[in-house]
Amino acid sequence: MTVQSDRGTRISEGSTRAIALRGHVVSCLRDPSLFPRSEAILDIEDGLVVMGDGVIQAVGPYDATSPLLPHSAIVREYPGSLIAPGFVDAHVHYAQTPMIASYGSSLLEWLSTYTFPNEELFASLEYSREVATVFFDELLRNGTTTALVFCTVFRESANAFFEEARRRNMRMIGGKVLMDRNAPSTLTETVQSGYDDSKQLIERWHGRGRLGYAITPRFAPTSSEGQLRSAASLRQEFPSCLVHSHVAENAQEVEWVRSLFQDRSSYLDVYDHAGLLGPGTVLAHGVQLSNQELDRMGATSTALAHCPTSNTFLGSGLLSIDRVRAVRPIIPVGLGTDVGAGTSFSLLATMGEAYKVAALSSSSIDAFSLFFLATLGGANALGVSEFVGSLEVGKEADVIVLNPHASELLSYRMKRVRSTEEQLFVLATLGDDRSVSATYVAGELAHERTVGAH
Ligand SMILES: [Zn+2]
Repeated sequence: MTVQSDRGTRISEGSTRAIALRGHVVSCLRDPSLFPRSEAILDIEDGLVVMGDGVIQAVGPYDATSPLLPHSAIVREYPGSLIAPGFVDAHVHYAQTPMIASYGSSLLEWLSTYTFPNEELFASLEYSREVATVFFDELLRNGTTTALVFCTVFRESANAFFEEARRRNMRMIGGKVLMDRNAPSTLTETVQSGYDDSKQLIERWHGRGRLGYAITPRFAPTSSEGQLRSAASLRQEFPSCLVHSHVAENAQEVEWVRSLFQDRSSYLDVYDHAGLLGPGTVLAHGVQLSNQELDRMGATSTALAHCPTSNTFLGSGLLSIDRVRAVRPIIPVGLGTDVGAGTSFSLLATMGEAYKVAALSSSSIDAFSLFFLATLGGANALGVSEFVGSLEVGKEADVIVLNPHASELLSYRMKRVRSTEEQLFVLATLGDDRSVSATYVAGELAHERTVGAH
């Protein structure tokens, strides 16, 4: 595997003291389902990742890289642990943090029973701030350093989200939800006010520090055709913003969309017709998409966020990852926790559930491919892979330390592990936030698990 270490010259002293993490370095550099292992995976058993001035300055074997360290560098030893890129959550609702694990119903009932009453509280900036704090703590505890995030219809909720992300210097993308129908009047807006509020937020937050804005129509049923078109014109005005929505999650929802948009040939066609597909558009779920719709996603480079824990929790169905991955040109795919319908903030747990959903839909997905979806694949889907998603020189230093011995059972099982791939698979199946020993954001320690806190 190619090793990057700045051509063998000593790493210069930066404006901040360099921190070097020593451990088993593992990162995807390309999609392992498309490239040979040797090109796709960086795997260094005794490796060093050097971080300074917020970026990765060197990655390589410890023996070759440690002589290049600047004199003032601090080396942190994580023997037996994996040093990996921070996880990327391709679809999550921060405002649903307080309602995770709400008991049983299907998507549309769940929205009206739990989601809408919960989201009404986010008219308060103070309450939004409270929840944003819990949400970001939870992300860091789980090793997630980048996410694409739904706020609520209220500007306050988006302001609280961006303030908190900025305070923590995290690479985050979010947006205020757009809804102008089929929701309580307290949560709906006009086409014009949705446009104006979004524009104001874009001008305030998009491109500031590490923040990005996503234009966020909730899903086709809660936006009129006029609002979807207005979202598309906003996108034309601000082409570097993402578009973030849901598509074809549940059979009943697909029927509803059919009856609401009778002139359109499919659910995806509703967005297509409005001008919302293309690179930089991320649609969550897609469980019920036809092959023609999937082909259209590939042809337009529209990304998909696969949310297995949510799909099983709400009984929405099983996404066949093989069917998605067979499409050419490829559909960029990331993994989403979709909290609060999703049941865990942990991308490790989500990888494990993606494996099970694949198994139940006659697909298969190996551990490196799961790891790719949770890191570089997600970064590709969100259009931020030039900054994050892998351990490469020049990328932002969002790095996590995964402890394969975080629980008694993990530790016992790991004694029988023969390869890095197997280690990752065991972590995906048995791991959670306990396995994340440390999370570094832009080279700074942002979370550290207390020793012994299983
Ligand atoms: Zn969602």
